[in-house]
Amino acid sequence: MSMILTEEKDLERIRLAGSLAGQVLQLIFEAVQPGITTWELDEMAEKAIRDAGHIPTFKGYRGFPATVCTSVNEEVVHGIPNKKKVLKDGDIVSLDLGVSVRETVNGKPFNYIGDTAVTVAVGQVSPAIVKLLEATQKSLYDAIKICKAGTTLDEIGGAVEDVAKTGAYGLVREYGGHGIGPDYHEDPFICNYRTGSKTKLKPGMVIAIEPMFNLGGDGVRIKPDGWTVVTRDYRPSAHFEHSLLITQEGVEVLTKRPKEVVG
Ligand code: MG
Repeated sequence: MSMILTEEKDLERIRLAGSLAGQVLQLIFEAVQPGITTWELDEMAEKAIRDAGHIPTFKGYRGFPATVCTSVNEEVVHGIPNKKKVLKDGDIVSLDLGVSVRETVNGKPFNYIGDTAVTVAVGQVSPAIVKLLEATQKSLYDAIKICKAGTTLDEIGGAVEDVAKTGAYGLVREYGGHGIGPDYHEDPFICNYRTGSKTKLKPGMVIAIEPMFNLGGDGVRIKPDGWTVVTRDYRPSAHFEHSLLITQEGVEVLTKRPKEVVG
């Protein structure tokens, strides 16, 4: 299960990991423009995380080669930054990154991790894509709004699913949110649709919620690189994510970007 953090020193560190993740995500979000490569965005993020004295969570995680997952257009998640991938006007790119604040506890590394993603329009995109991005972000915010001690995973999935249904978007079911622990992903898996799960959030839990909506159908597959998830129909996909600390009364958005208004 996700770790449960209640001690002030732990809360301080998870907040640091989250806020740095949010700051670095905003930095590369603002750097997105036609002509930049996904490789350059990745380098910028890695430098900012290391300059702050912390660790890019994804680099080397299960062999992933980079700091940021950069997923362009029909790529849903886990896209690999590439020197040849030049962003162009009308594209969208999902930027997903993690920051680990590492401590040594009893001689072993222990990580406090912030995990967050946003999908950004490159230049001018079509009105249908603007709506896709808005709906995906709204589903994340709707799910965040209902999070507190006692909220069930079914309720979280329902909040996301309702927004997808309203817009008739494809909803990716193979991937979803998760608990966050010292080794990154932990139980519970948090589905972006109703499952009937009665599992409840507890105070001190750290989780990530991450809806993925498609302009076409639900189906996805993994490309031959073994990482990049793409829509089966090659239509565009959007992805937003925040790491959250569950409290008795509600929720703290750990990875809020400095200029972001959640709600
Ligand atoms: Mg995640």
